[in-house]
Amino acid sequence: MAHVFAVDIGGTQIKAARVDERGSVVASRRIDTPATLDAFVVVARMLARELGDGALAAGIGCKGIINPRTTKVEVLPGTVHYLEGHTLAELFGLGAMPVAADNDARVALLGERRWGAARGLSDVIMLTLGTGVGGGILTGGVPVRGAIGAGGHLGHLTVDPHGVTCICGNRGCLETVFSSKAIEAAAFSAQHRGVAGTLLSHGKPPTCEQVFREAAEGDAVAREIVERGVALLAGAIAALAFVFDPELVILGGQIADAGDVLLAPLRRQFHERTVPLLRREIPVVRTRLSDPSGVLGAAALAWDACTTLAGQG
Ligand SMILES: [Zn+2]
Repeated sequence: MAHVFAVDIGGTQIKAARVDERGSVVASRRIDTPATLDAFVVVARMLARELGDGALAAGIGCKGIINPRTTKVEVLPGTVHYLEGHTLAELFGLGAMPVAADNDARVALLGERRWGAARGLSDVIMLTLGTGVGGGILTGGVPVRGAIGAGGHLGHLTVDPHGVTCICGNRGCLETVFSSKAIEAAAFSAQHRGVAGTLLSHGKPPTCEQVFREAAEGDAVAREIVERGVALLAGAIAALAFVFDPELVILGGQIADAGDVLLAPLRRQFHERTVPLLRREIPVVRTRLSDPSGVLGAAALAWDACTTLAGQG
């Protein structure tokens, strides 16, 4: 059966799969992300041999700024920094196979458009809420890329001009106030100050998941942390809604798994801010593609490339 080779390169794991046109994963592998470029190339070639054989095209999602035409990694801070300056198609040794690559969050949105929550829609905002915050914007059916491919980096939207320094060099970015790292830092700070509450009872610093769980169970300190984060997130999404006037807002990433403790107040505040001008409640939903959605996004990118090639042929 016709299939594509899809890869999601993350800071901790590389996920690769063979995916058919209906979005079914025919075969897949997960491997810890190697620490060096040489080790990465060995893993990449092995995955390409194992899962890429006979594929019509390859799609690769990767953090950072990726040149979609050449598949070159232009800017990539963090653990896989060693990929910066390299061309992903070459590293995987894919020969003459058509290869498309793009930023992982943008790629995830393409997956939702092909098989998930954004099916049939052309104006969509998606945020992935994890250790950092990623984003993708579809406007008039076209993903926003910008002049150098940095467009749609929603995690670096300034929400507090006087806020703390972000990994990007700016201050008060959305991911400094609403990411699992930001929420864990706020919880640790409360615990360190000796604030009373369930958070204090943990021997070690609470995880983001624990903070949300305890907020849902009524712990005042956890609640305060979540409420502050939700208010800033709702404000940021409202600002985006006024700029892009989307049909839908999609939330992905592990924090979105918190469910109603996040979604109910977020929807309420987002609608309070936007309905008077936009005259409708823009739905805020979870991603529909189940794990490994990063890989399915990369597969959608590959299938999009096949469609483009067919159009050119
Ligand atoms: Zn930033």
